[in-house]
Amino acid sequence: MDWFKRAKEGLKPQKKKEMPELWLKCTGCGEIIYKKELEKNFNVCTKCDFHFRQKSSDYIAQLLDDNQFDEFNANISSVDFLKFKALKKYSDQLKAAVKKTGQNDAIRTGFGKICGYEVVICIMDFSFIGGSMGSVVGEKIARATDEAIKRHVPLIIISASGGARMMEAAISLMQLAKTSARLTKLAEAGLPFISIVTDPTTGGVTASYAMLGDFILAEPGALIGFAGPRVIKQTIGQDLPDGFQRSEFQLKHGFIDAVISRHEMKERLREILEFSTDTQVDEDARNGDLSADSISRLVSVTKMDEDTLDQGISTN
Ligand SMILES: [Zn+2]
Repeated sequence: MDWFKRAKEGLKPQKKKEMPELWLKCTGCGEIIYKKELEKNFNVCTKCDFHFRQKSSDYIAQLLDDNQFDEFNANISSVDFLKFKALKKYSDQLKAAVKKTGQNDAIRTGFGKICGYEVVICIMDFSFIGGSMGSVVGEKIARATDEAIKRHVPLIIISASGGARMMEAAISLMQLAKTSARLTKLAEAGLPFISIVTDPTTGGVTASYAMLGDFILAEPGALIGFAGPRVIKQTIGQDLPDGFQRSEFQLKHGFIDAVISRHEMKERLREILEFSTDTQVDEDARNGDLSADSISRLVSVTKMDEDTLDQGISTN
């Protein structure tokens, strides 16, 4: 049957080209969004304000002056001391996460400036084994706190974590005590600690440093809690209220101090740094790259905060 034979030899089926994903569907409103557009808008949906998870490098670019981040302790990496194996070997998971993220663990710590104010900043990456807190995360936070005390500057931690890293068992749980004790030293030195919680911040991270901030700020819609809603629902056998454990719910119930959109986070941090430190910065640095656009957004979001607040009062 010649019909089904290729007349010419050497013709091969073309390989499918790897196309970069240009579009994605918004988790909040279901709209299809152009990825470049989303990146330009701080990874926030332009239609519904849904805050997508983002990498530590995005936070660095959005918050630090001139994208300048002097990272320290980047070379500390986890050791699989228990030779832990569940579905996958922990050692393999570590290798895969390092390859995927280009980082040695789930947190980056360093030094930078926000509107001219010097800070030590720690930023977690959810893409590294769910931002789980193992020995390295704890150690890096402890060292960053020491660094803030040494330099006499405020400490900022941006959390994104599923909680303690179970593959490190009790060592992972010890990080709760270790980080909390170190933060007490920071408080004794009279230095502010600003905790920024993003989606999701749960488990051991909520149970330690994320909730110890002098100021606890949350991104809109972030899941913040100890046990997740699914576990709670199964345990109590009841349906949970709308928006349970989300930032706005936690604000209403007094767990956090403010819900702040990514667009205005830098401006709000400047205000906090201004009144919580005695540092004087020059006017140019102070105004930095806060555009008129971001300030106009600030006004609108501030109004939203007031509405949320009123709601809280009327229902209580
Ligand atoms: Zn949306």
